[in-house]
Amino acid sequence: MYSHHSHSLDYVAHGVDCLEDVVARANEMKFDLFCLTEHMPRIDAKYLYPEETTGCAEEDLRTLRDRFDKFLEHASEVKARGLPTKIIIGVEVEGCDMNHIAYAKKLMDDNKHIMQFCVGSMHHVNGIPIDFDQAEWNRALEYSGNNLRSLVRDYLEQQYRLIIEMKPLILGHFDLFRVFCSKDIFVDAETGQVVEEGSKNAVSAATVSFTKHWDDVRALAERNLRTVASYGGLIEINTSGLRKKLENPYPCREFAILAKTIPGTRFVLSDDAHGVSHVGVCYDKALSYMDEVIQLDRLHYLEDNAGVLEVKSISMEDLKRSSFWEQYK
Ligand SMILES: [Zn+2]
Ligand SMILES: [Zn+2]
Repeated sequence: MYSHHSHSLDYVAHGVDCLEDVVARANEMKFDLFCLTEHMPRIDAKYLYPEETTGCAEEDLRTLRDRFDKFLEHASEVKARGLPTKIIIGVEVEGCDMNHIAYAKKLMDDNKHIMQFCVGSMHHVNGIPIDFDQAEWNRALEYSGNNLRSLVRDYLEQQYRLIIEMKPLILGHFDLFRVFCSKDIFVDAETGQVVEEGSKNAVSAATVSFTKHWDDVRALAERNLRTVASYGGLIEINTSGLRKKLENPYPCREFAILAKTIPGTRFVLSDDAHGVSHVGVCYDKALSYMDEVIQLDRLHYLEDNAGVLEVKSISMEDLKRSSFWEQYK
């Protein structure tokens, strides 16, 4: 089994358990591959989370940089142990603005002997965090004119900048904007504008279709997915969506099926673990999602061949036959 995306409490404030324990769990569960992809340091104080601020922005940003350096050192040490679960070291890139994208490129270049790939991710729209809490997500929605369709458009436009500039090998949680699409927020199914519950065309943000009536959103999503496929990038099926009680992992059904229609699209699997209990979380549900909803023929994964990353694949039939699944019974 494989996970291409993980974190730990040692190196990110919102982590749950230490790196050693997370890796030990992956070994215990007999993962073939477990990628360590800590968040890159953010370089602008406006992107610091409340839990990271002490009052001195300069110091807080330096803490992020120091912590990331320590992560690279520790991850290298863990990798060198030659555990049964193979380790590949990468980084989760912040696509929040052009400065961060430029910094990510430099960071990868400066550490290319350690970091072999990146997970390209968006955690902010118009500078506002969308996966921190409901209040911040609501603020991002408000900034986009209280219009969900606009928020998603803004997200996908910035994601595209990240895709063309970085060409991330793995595109992380494609539709993270869904994380706080609450059943208590109602939008007009056609315009995306926030409306009162019960008004004409009102649908909850949790159940609205992003592509049925929103042609612009559909076109942007398709463009982004097509671009990733064009350079051989991989789309991540990320089970943290299920862990956060969404009905589907990222990407959700409509985006996953859209991606599948694009020639060259290849999916990989990730748990985006921040702690021991997140390792392989909801992989049983992800298996039926891949098999029955997306109807994949093959799942892809990375393999480190003497320092060169290769993209391999396994048929769904072989994947389903793996003894890995016994621990979910
Ligand atoms: Zn992320
Ligand atoms: Zn992550």
